[in-house]
Amino acid sequence: MLDKFGYPTAEQVSSRFFPEAVLVKPKAILECYEDIPCNPCVTSCPTGAITIGPDINKQPVLDPDKCTGCAVCVGACPGLAIMVAQIKENRAWFKIPYEFLPHPAKNELWDAAGRDGTLIGVAKIEGIALASKTKTAIVTVSIEKAQLLRFATVVKKHA
Ligand code: SF4
Ligand code: SF4
Repeated sequence: MLDKFGYPTAEQVSSRFFPEAVLVKPKAILECYEDIPCNPCVTSCPTGAITIGPDINKQPVLDPDKCTGCAVCVGACPGLAIMVAQIKENRAWFKIPYEFLPHPAKNELWDAAGRDGTLIGVAKIEGIALASKTKTAIVTVSIEKAQLLRFATVVKKHA
């Protein structure tokens, strides 16, 4: 699916998520599905939660026990392939990289899209910050819990 349409299958996505019992705390979701020579996720993580191993071409692996959900890796990944996910207050919360302007603002409602670009509902902007090194905007959003595995990003302010 990734090769054909440019987005992963539902099976690929679910393979990178963790059970709800783990997601009561924020955890990085590494949506890096191809072997490429890249490792800023590994070198940026302050807790050593991401490993690739001796062959830099391999895909990164997350140790959820070591991940604090700080989102440093979200801002460091050049492929925008990492988000942080959490189940909180019976909603799905995410920290996502956002490279477009204007930036969303706290408390705004934005239309949310899945990985194939389909609109999936309305997300609330819970906050926004700039990554200290890359200055990538990291947007915190929440959406109904049922969209945990479908949510990919926000696309425009909800009309
Ligand atoms: S969210 Fe923070 S602790 Fe978790 S993998 Fe990313 S950089 Fe490491
Ligand atoms: S930095 Fe991003 S693109 Fe590079 S290996 Fe890590 S997750 Fe994949």
